[in-house]
Amino acid sequence: MAVERVVDLSHPVGPRTQVFPGDEPPQISPSCSLAADGYNSVRIRLSSHTGTHADAPYHFLADGPRLDELPLELFCGPAVVVDATGLEPRTAIGPGALEPWADLLVPGAAVLVRTGWDRHYGTERYYDHPYLAGETARALVERGVRTLGVDTLSPDQTPYGGVEADDWSAHHAVLGAGGTIIENLCRLDRIDFADPWFCAFPLRLSSGDGAPVRAVAMDRRR
Ligand SMILES: [Zn+2]
Repeated sequence: MAVERVVDLSHPVGPRTQVFPGDEPPQISPSCSLAADGYNSVRIRLSSHTGTHADAPYHFLADGPRLDELPLELFCGPAVVVDATGLEPRTAIGPGALEPWADLLVPGAAVLVRTGWDRHYGTERYYDHPYLAGETARALVERGVRTLGVDTLSPDQTPYGGVEADDWSAHHAVLGAGGTIIENLCRLDRIDFADPWFCAFPLRLSSGDGAPVRAVAMDRRR
């Protein structure tokens, strides 16, 4: 297999990275410099849920697998992009949205729900994203899907601006089945070729509940 093209589905990590309400943005500061030390390096302070990142079951489940206990097969697979664009803010995406892709929702698939909300990244509107109804996430899990990606802060509603969202049904469905959720994906519209291959490997963070990923879709030459 040769790779024809790699599409980057990740947001940059830096001081302007938009974080979940209450989380802190990344802090990156110089620790060594070419002038003083002969080489450049930086000190990084990050939430484990910074930018485009993977959630491990331990994020929501006390006895759930940690990031470094998950099989790496969870973080790659054939991408199935579910089109859920054109929705109003805070719209619940019901299981009917999955129907056009029903045949592709199988074990090993990486299901990427495209709302197009990444265009609001960096603004307050980004918090008011559409979200997966619990039954939609449960329908994916029932079909054997264990890798769910979203181009929003969360597959569940994000509490912000007076909205007291505390229903984590989609997280519980996927993480409770031993799966992973890749959040804050972007540019899913660039996956405009057949048989895309998704990869989003997290840092091998010891006992981690989540970690940033470099999420990509590969166009493979056959
Ligand atoms: Zn997360």
